[in-house]
Amino acid sequence: MTRKTMVPALLLTAALLIAASIAWGADSSKSSFLSGVHKKNNVTCADCHGKSLAVDDSETALNKNCRGCHGGFEELAAKTKEHINPHKSHLGDTNCTACHKGHVASKAYCNYCHSFAMKIPAMGTEQESSDKKWVQESAPGKKELKSTRVESADVVVIGAGGSGYVASITAHDAGAKVILLEKMPITGGNSMLAAGGINAARTRYQERLGMHDDPAEMVKETMKGGRDKNDPELVKVLAYKSADAVDFLVSLGADMTDLVRSGGVAVDRTHRPVGGAAVGPHLIKVYRDNAAKRNIDVRVNSEVVQILSDGKGRVTGVQVKGKHSGVYTINAKAVIDTAGGFAANNELVGFYKPQFKETASSNQPGATGEGMFLAEKIGAKLIDMEQIQIHPTMGGDTKVLVSETVRGSGAILVNHAGKRFVNELTTRDKASAAILAQPEKSAFLVLGEGIRKSNVQIDGYIALGLVQEADSVAGLAAKMGVPADVLTATVVAYNKAFEAKKDPEFQRQDIPRPVDGPKYYAIWVKPGRHHTMGGVKINTEAQVIGKDGKPIAGFYAAGEVTGGVHGWNRLGGNAITDTVVFGRIAGSNAASFIKNEK
Ligand code: FAD
Repeated sequence: MTRKTMVPALLLTAALLIAASIAWGADSSKSSFLSGVHKKNNVTCADCHGKSLAVDDSETALNKNCRGCHGGFEELAAKTKEHINPHKSHLGDTNCTACHKGHVASKAYCNYCHSFAMKIPAMGTEQESSDKKWVQESAPGKKELKSTRVESADVVVIGAGGSGYVASITAHDAGAKVILLEKMPITGGNSMLAAGGINAARTRYQERLGMHDDPAEMVKETMKGGRDKNDPELVKVLAYKSADAVDFLVSLGADMTDLVRSGGVAVDRTHRPVGGAAVGPHLIKVYRDNAAKRNIDVRVNSEVVQILSDGKGRVTGVQVKGKHSGVYTINAKAVIDTAGGFAANNELVGFYKPQFKETASSNQPGATGEGMFLAEKIGAKLIDMEQIQIHPTMGGDTKVLVSETVRGSGAILVNHAGKRFVNELTTRDKASAAILAQPEKSAFLVLGEGIRKSNVQIDGYIALGLVQEADSVAGLAAKMGVPADVLTATVVAYNKAFEAKKDPEFQRQDIPRPVDGPKYYAIWVKPGRHHTMGGVKINTEAQVIGKDGKPIAGFYAAGEVTGGVHGWNRLGGNAITDTVVFGRIAGSNAASFIKNEK
């Protein structure tokens, strides 16, 4: 060894020794952290991590080993005694490591949206703060990252919500090798939170009930709801392909048999599983199962930090930051952006609509909008970014959305004086504005036993502690703090309107049930931000449109990351239709694009 090579060698050895001692220190803290059940049962590193001790970004082997020892979700759910059963939640069968950690304190993923004091047994009691900000690697100002390896795929899909799954399954079935990337520790996105249903016109389920719906009506109502600011060509595609979208879901194994009405629509067009079960968790389970059956490469904890292009207007892949594997590049022949909206991003919402900053958001914590800005960085045009929808009925001071289907099932909106003040099934912007015009800027949903029984989701709100109940309307009024005589008169008048099939006060078209006993219920509600209508501009082929007005080659987008479908106000039930209709178009066109390029 020469003197020239000796100095760097000594420095390297010193660095390795320091790194080893840091690692040793970390290891000893790790083992003391594991001093719970794992320590007692003499669990070794290899028991959890396998012999190689390697951890992939999706933590697949690790989670398989968790289940090997502790059992699957169903088994654990059966054993769980708590009233809120985290193993039987709307998140479905996800990674154990989304909540349970080996080397840092565990934290309930649910606490991102709810405020349960949920203590996780085994492996530490100290909880991480639930209001920790989601770190965006692609945030402006962050320095560019260097890839340490390169992979390849035919199609890369960014974001594993509904649109991402639909696009991936469709592209796979058309022969493409697909990688679906999700930055969060679980898949599902906002799609998994969808409670109401999916709108579709002239479906076999409507026909079975003797209803004659018309896609042309769906176009008209969607345009009217969006204040005529929607792209009419996209709306036509949405409506005329909506029945096909429902058939596609059924072909994957979904149940779409139940029908209900959503705001701004004159017929029962919102499809959902039997008994009114929430549509989102059901669909995400169906998608997860279908992706697994097809061996589609789905990776969680994998954030796309850059969309790559050749500088001549053609997309060439993405750069990803994996939780464990670091930064890498995937060269792809086509990229589909399905990264969702930004209603969970307080800063961004505040930038576009300062008056909505600090309002509660119904969205999952990863709905932060970088899919739009990654696309813009390579030339995509963004439209309608300031169009942010406020949903009228978030549960009081919580982040829990009380579905529009509760009103659709017959519930009334009542103010703090005990009076109805708006047609409950008007569009969301109008219903929200009417609530915000009340001095308290909040209202109550009031319903009876028949309405509760018709919609299983209400049992969920009861379990979450959002619902007050009483044996009489006067008793309910006392709990709500509103005048009993006024509330009683309001309910009597509404029940008369039900019988007469005419609502002289607010011209509500559809009153499916009265507010009847034996029990009466009330939910305190406030408007909260819910949906971002703007985003990446696309055409009817789901191609991303550049600032020059031309499609960007190899680049597609679908779902809430796009703008134009919903105009300035989205109708309830139309977003899931958007994810399925345009997810299918994006998946199918991306697969044909790469075939034609070969
Ligand atoms: P998402 O489902 O949000 O998926 C996008 C995914 O991309 C997310 O998982 C996100 O984490 C991921 N992602 C983001 N950035 C990156 C990145 N850089 N790298 C990798 N991954 C990334 N609509 C209806 O039609 N009917 C309903 O009943 C209904 N109910 C709703 C209830 C709630 C509480 C909410 C919040 C929304 C509801 N909606 C409903 C709206 C609807 O669910 C969404 O608009 C729709 O599901 C969006 O689907 P998506 O696939 O486009 O986005």
